[in-house]
Amino acid sequence: DKAQVHVAREEKILVLVRLRPLNDKEILANEAADWECINDTTVLYRNTLREGSTFPSAYSFDRVYRGECPTRQVYEDGPKEVALSVVKGINSSIFAYGQTSSGKTYTMTGITEFAVSDIFDYIFKHGDRAFVVKFSAIEIYNEAIRDLLSPDSTPLRLRDDPEKGAVVEKNREEILRDWNHFKDLISVCEAQRKIGETSLNERSSRSHQIIKLTVESSAREFLGKENSTTLMASVNFIDLAGSERASQALSAGARLKEGCHINRSLLTLGTVIRKLSNGRQGHINFRDSKLTRILQPCLGGNARTAIVCTLSPARSHVEQTRNTLLFACCAK
Ligand code: ADP
Ligand code: MG
Repeated sequence: DKAQVHVAREEKILVLVRLRPLNDKEILANEAADWECINDTTVLYRNTLREGSTFPSAYSFDRVYRGECPTRQVYEDGPKEVALSVVKGINSSIFAYGQTSSGKTYTMTGITEFAVSDIFDYIFKHGDRAFVVKFSAIEIYNEAIRDLLSPDSTPLRLRDDPEKGAVVEKNREEILRDWNHFKDLISVCEAQRKIGETSLNERSSRSHQIIKLTVESSAREFLGKENSTTLMASVNFIDLAGSERASQALSAGARLKEGCHINRSLLTLGTVIRKLSNGRQGHINFRDSKLTRILQPCLGGNARTAIVCTLSPARSHVEQTRNTLLFACCAK
């Protein structure tokens, strides 16, 4: 039936795949690059002579990007539209998914910067409306939520609000003035993440970082009047924990044990994404992790979702690269 088809299309998750170049360390170690983008839509595993390689060698998506392709282009092809829906009152989430060192932070930092710049640009060109942009940032580490704008490292609590859903209590929100203010707040977040016993590398492989922008606007001619309507929505930029934190658990079989290698939020997100991309069949278990509880209003329903899956071309990473591609196939 037509309505059904329409809903399914609206909910389609945009999946992009980005292969990074070999890095200096890998080149010095004489690593081979086993993966290649053979055109704009296909990633190919070249080392088919490798012993015991039984998995398919070509993976196709809407778009794939080779390492030399600038982040600007990845952004323009999809994340841009998803992020800018926030000014029209539509919630959205943009994820970077991939193993540690595959380029998640590199990709998400660029996408976030371009989006902030475009949102300010949009506001500047739409003087008929009054806009307020708010910035907040959290990290989820071992299912504990930390405010990246606050020096206080006490975990924040999640409260269920009958109207808004899960609310992070006492999460600091700053009204974003301009680009320089955005850069200042990003520096504050980066400084916060460096504090603590765990090294930043170890920490970022295990934690999720969410930068959230909330945009509110109302038509100036109706400001303060009864018939004024306010648009409000949020866009989330999510730099996920290394995907090896999910696949290690999955490959260990169905018996999931809580432990340092397992990331509940990442596993639950994977399940939620798979169900959403299957057209919401069955119960969606948003409540099973902090990450999915927080993102629920910005995942599925009317919300827009984009996932950039990042890959390392290195031979030593082949198993994780394959896991990421399988995740990307399930999500699209
Ligand atoms: P992750 O966040 O997934 O652990 P990073 O984003 O930190 O990985 O990337 C690892 C390294 O690779 C960084 O030094 C980064 O600058 C570099 N890198 C990642 N993606 C690219 C790319 N597309 N082009 C060039 N360098 C990249
Ligand atoms: Mg990172």
